[in-house]
Amino acid sequence: TAFTALPLKPALLASLETLGYNDMTPIQAQSLPAMLEGRDVIAQAQTGSGKTAAFGLSLLQQLSVETIRLQALVLCPTRELADQVSKAIRKLAANIPNVKLLTLCGGMPLGPQLASLAHDPHIVVGTPGRVQEHLKRGSLHGGGIKVLVLDEADRMLDMGFGDAIDDIVGRIAKHHQTLLFSATYPDEIREASRRLQRDPITVTV
Ligand code: AMP
Repeated sequence: TAFTALPLKPALLASLETLGYNDMTPIQAQSLPAMLEGRDVIAQAQTGSGKTAAFGLSLLQQLSVETIRLQALVLCPTRELADQVSKAIRKLAANIPNVKLLTLCGGMPLGPQLASLAHDPHIVVGTPGRVQEHLKRGSLHGGGIKVLVLDEADRMLDMGFGDAIDDIVGRIAKHHQTLLFSATYPDEIREASRRLQRDPITVTV
């Protein structure tokens, strides 16, 4: 199915054309309609499936640039993945002027992050520990978050980020969409979904 079948902003369709993405990958075709309706989605998806564009398009579609507030939070297990995800979202956002995206990862100095946070970003991509720290110290405000993405959720739980994720969810807007992506589907992931998602649509490719 072509992306043009979706109710996407013209700016996003333009980016897709630049990137040469015409047809949706299976995960995109199965998850995007529900995500664009605002539903929670739990998707079993491997790297290479096109999952990043799926959640990236969904969060950018729901973003209002005029609202200077954090509206989308993407949690990743590692800095490498956070950097990749940030790059992919920036490409998709290339035709939306003034989108502010910040990457906040552990192992990086706090000072520059605090300076960048003096102006609220629209989107944050980061690792759970550091994002939790910024929410706790008040340098990051989660009250306006509309979309929370848990990317490679199984790896985040394996790395011991479960408590940080629960704490983060307790500090952000109560009503938000939660998109959970995981390569594997162990009990801990089902449990996390039950705890963090509301009436989710399950997608397996
Ligand atoms: P991911 O699974 O998010 O790591 O994406 C895997 C690769 O697929 C990335 O290099 C994307 O640029 C590419 N990609 C994502 N969606 C599409 C699409 N609909 N058509 C062609 N390539 C895509």
